Amino acid sequence: MPKIYFKMESRIRRIGVLTSGGDAPGMNAAIRAVVRSAIFYHCEVVGIRKGYTGLVERQFMGMQSHSVSKIISQGGTILKSSRCPEFNDPHVRKVAVENMREAGIDALVVIGGDGSFRGANDLVKEFDFPVVGVPGTIDNDIYGTDYTIGFDTAINTALEAVDKLRDTADSHNMVFFVEVMGRDAGFIALHTAIGTGAEAVLVPEYPTNIKKLCDYLLNERRKNKTSGIVIVAEGDEAGGAMEIAAQVKRRLPDYETRVTTLGHIQRGGSPSCADRVRASILGHGAVKALLDGRKGVMVGLINDKIEYTAFDLACSRHNEINKYWYDIARILSI
Ligand code: ADP
Repeated sequence: MPKIYFKMESRIRRIGVLTSGGDAPGMNAAIRAVVRSAIFYHCEVVGIRKGYTGLVERQFMGMQSHSVSKIISQGGTILKSSRCPEFNDPHVRKVAVENMREAGIDALVVIGGDGSFRGANDLVKEFDFPVVGVPGTIDNDIYGTDYTIGFDTAINTALEAVDKLRDTADSHNMVFFVEVMGRDAGFIALHTAIGTGAEAVLVPEYPTNIKKLCDYLLNERRKNKTSGIVIVAEGDEAGGAMEIAAQVKRRLPDYETRVTTLGHIQRGGSPSCADRVRASILGHGAVKALLDGRKGVMVGLINDKIEYTAFDLACSRHNEINKYWYDIARILSI
């Protein structure tokens, strides 16, 4: 039996939970963890549909333990998500807080990315409303945690897809430029490249030199490598996979090149075991944080331990890919 953290002096009796911004596999596991933990610590839970939009429109629903049965294996979010640009307006945020207070919601868990945490931070600063964040995004770029919920599933989805593309690349002596997600960060690209043994990886963190890439591909061919996989992060400063493939083709016209953009399949699907476990630990950590009187923080996992990082910090910095891992990706592709 886990230690019971519930403090009798805690004034939190009803906790709201929402998912906001881009969906990520494992968000449901986080919702489940929040609901079950809150009930365990004798709190009620209100699910808010469609992220901040639901706060403004009072899309509230009571949640019980059975409300989250069997969702741990489902991708997406049962609470739905949204982008809510109106939330940038303080008057709209005031309505959101009034709605929560009227519904007896004492505290809120926001599962989302750094954009969602900016909105959450406003609720804490402007209205002293207790909010704790859970990092849910496939990009893995949020400061204050080693892993965000959804990242592991996304890289496994990308890995499976690239393994399949390799078969065609090999059969037809082609070079595939595969674009993966990750916004301005190269985490998905780097992990996918190492995991698939790609010939090259282009990430936003380091400058892309097309001439060097072409020299490298030529050298590969001299070594009788018949196919090539180049992983391109969508945020690479030299452009997406389409643009980079075109530039390579201009320099190496006799190369058979193909472009595949993996796109949103990386955000879907049943979450991996690692994402389910992380989401469960983080979701519980968020409830515990609120009951311990914390607010304005994001719950993260650093070296497998729960750590809390102020929203101010989590929103002003980004996690960065490991340069050493990037170098290893290059070493292993010789
Ligand atoms: P993510 O949380 O995945 O980074 P977004 O950046 O789209 O996704 O943010 C999700 C939502 O958070 C936005 O649609 C908006 O409602 C809210 N939000 C983002 N930035 C701010 C901000 N500076 N102030 C208030 N709310 C914000």
